[in-house]
Amino acid sequence: MNFDSKKPSAISPSSAAEAADLHRSVGAAAALHFVPMEEDRLEPGDAMEPMVAGMLDALGEDPAREGLERTPHRVSKAMRFLTSGYTTDLAEVVNGAVFDAEGYQEMVLVKEIEFYSLCEHHMLPFFGKVSVAYLPHKKIIGLSKIPRLVDVFARRLQVQERMTQQVAEAIDAILAPRGVAVSATGFHLCMAMRGVEKQASQTTTTAFTGLFLGDKDLRREFLVQIR
Ligand SMILES: [Zn+2]
Repeated sequence: MNFDSKKPSAISPSSAAEAADLHRSVGAAAALHFVPMEEDRLEPGDAMEPMVAGMLDALGEDPAREGLERTPHRVSKAMRFLTSGYTTDLAEVVNGAVFDAEGYQEMVLVKEIEFYSLCEHHMLPFFGKVSVAYLPHKKIIGLSKIPRLVDVFARRLQVQERMTQQVAEAIDAILAPRGVAVSATGFHLCMAMRGVEKQASQTTTTAFTGLFLGDKDLRREFLVQIR
């Protein structure tokens, strides 16, 4: 068999015309390959969309195929929502829902608030439940505000430890209570999907302020109540 006859002939162009042809076809192939830049497909001014398209391309996908055509736009939108906590104003969330405690001194506990966050190491979701308790001093907060406060800190690139701490610090700053206790239990897809840990493993983090720091019995009461 004559293998030579199957060699492509256009590898070294012998004329300027051939070189130009080759350049055009390489250019066209590259344009096809990196497509996503067509103006009508992108929201003007959104820096994230071309990056997502570039990522799809780097993954060996064709960002121009039908199913992926709007993906950079959707990913950008989703990422902005999932990190909207960066630009949410705490005062706006609380919006005046802080009231006189009228002498109420016992623990206020909101249990098992759902949260959804993104781990800052892999930008993969972690999610679960968080319980928030505080011992009022002079002020209490509308109960529906507590899940919204959790969202403010969950909707960022996070580590669960920091999120737990930030929720405790926010309640502390808003109410100046005698103490705050927060416990979060999360399921981390970066562990489960990458096979680093057993799929069912969960992570629990806690944060305490004020009286909860020095009083073991109080901490135990909180932990028993959320069990
Ligand atoms: Zn991670």
